[in-house]
Amino acid sequence: MQRTKVVDVLTGQDKGKEICVKGWVRTKRGNKNVAFIALNDGSSFHSVQLVADLAKFDEDTLRKVTTGACISATGLVVESQGSGQSVELQMTSIEVLGEADAETYPLQKKGHSLEFLREIAHLRFRTNTFGAVFRIRHAMAFAIHKFFNDKGFFYIHSPIITGSDAEGAGAMFRVTTLDPVNPPKNETGTVDFKEDFFGGPTNLTVSGQLEAELAAMALGQVYTFGPTFRAENSNTSRHLAEFWMIEPEVAFNEIKENMDLAEEMLQYLVQYALDNCKDDLEFLNQQYDKELLDRLRFVVANKFERLNYGEAVEILKGSGVKFEFPVDWGTDLSSEHERWLVEKHFQKPVILTNYPKEIKAFYMKQNEDGKTVRAMDVLFPGIGEIIGGSQREENYDKLLNRMHEMHIPEEELYWYLDTRKFGTCPHAGFGLGFERLILFVTGMANIRDVIPFPRTPQNAAF
Ligand code: ATP
Ligand code: MN
Repeated sequence: MQRTKVVDVLTGQDKGKEICVKGWVRTKRGNKNVAFIALNDGSSFHSVQLVADLAKFDEDTLRKVTTGACISATGLVVESQGSGQSVELQMTSIEVLGEADAETYPLQKKGHSLEFLREIAHLRFRTNTFGAVFRIRHAMAFAIHKFFNDKGFFYIHSPIITGSDAEGAGAMFRVTTLDPVNPPKNETGTVDFKEDFFGGPTNLTVSGQLEAELAAMALGQVYTFGPTFRAENSNTSRHLAEFWMIEPEVAFNEIKENMDLAEEMLQYLVQYALDNCKDDLEFLNQQYDKELLDRLRFVVANKFERLNYGEAVEILKGSGVKFEFPVDWGTDLSSEHERWLVEKHFQKPVILTNYPKEIKAFYMKQNEDGKTVRAMDVLFPGIGEIIGGSQREENYDKLLNRMHEMHIPEEELYWYLDTRKFGTCPHAGFGLGFERLILFVTGMANIRDVIPFPRTPQNAAF
């Protein structure tokens, strides 16, 4: 018999019919006459209840139906006697596909800490929490593609291995096939990367932006959505060494349209989650964060606050709050400052613009004041920076000048400079950290709990 997914069984569509379900046992309880098995197959947050009349089943088989075991069961779909579900399965046959020894199965009991579950990342998918998180993660990835496709953007696959180390977004991981013990050396005694696989040093990308810009200056509206890698030693609840980033880039957009796009996209994604991930969000709201749903609805319903970096610094300085890091014009804002602005002062998402050029990347469009660039950071409650972006410097001479000032070798980025030489135009874009978005939407507190296999300093076990 063909398998019916639990999500479909629970609609009640098969009432009165005999069907087959397959999945993993969440719990088994009962009495002398009857066993109740909660079966989950991942298709829904909810499990389906299987009811087994003990007299009709082999004792040995039922003994193997323990928490974590995988079973296939057939039965009649009937109106549920108990509360909490509309239908249940009156079981007629059962087959144990995979046993899970009750003595050694780590998820035998409920209520493990998230820290413990991180240690068993290979099994944590089977918990209510991670089922919910990863269904939501999927929905958000899908919604991102839908959002851009509906707007006529093209998805560009930017390279993961790059020969340029001048992307400017952070420390890089080297990619090499050279022998680490005995690398080939040249006359001066340094490693001879001509012998390396690509004939020169290569790294894992920190951002797909520069390549996205090349594509935008032909295809008009593009976005990337891929893995990025940063070898920074930041052991925080918001940083991963391997994370996914969405980077739209749009020809003819200036900073205002860039902010509009970021705001529209974030509101679209949050609304998509509210519309499509109801059961999972309700569980997370109840289990971890009682204000999650209210916060999500609030973000969709209210315009983001927009102000200059300089104004934000004045507000922070006049706040009377003792921050760990002091603020003054020219300092990079820390997450404590960003979160205070969002959570305490404005009590809504904030977009800051026009940052000092010294603390931002070389490619950002310089303002007439000679001091600031057209950068924009979107700051979110509980997170701090969720998006970083800018209008790009489209003027060849100004861009080259800034590269010289920042000691960025122009030979390495000649291909990037070429776009400013041939048919340059105003354009803008931004990078949304996918896991930071998932943190916000799920209300989880640690970024390690919203990616299946987190890579962080000292940790890439499997
Ligand atoms: P932060 O200041 O928070 O370290 P950043 O300014 O270095 O971030 P950008 O280079 O602007 O980050 O990257 C764009 C977006 O990518 C950020 O707004 C954030 O959402 C996300 N991001 C950056 N670094 C990380 C990381 N190590 N782990 C997860 N997401 C990240
Ligand atoms: Mn940034």
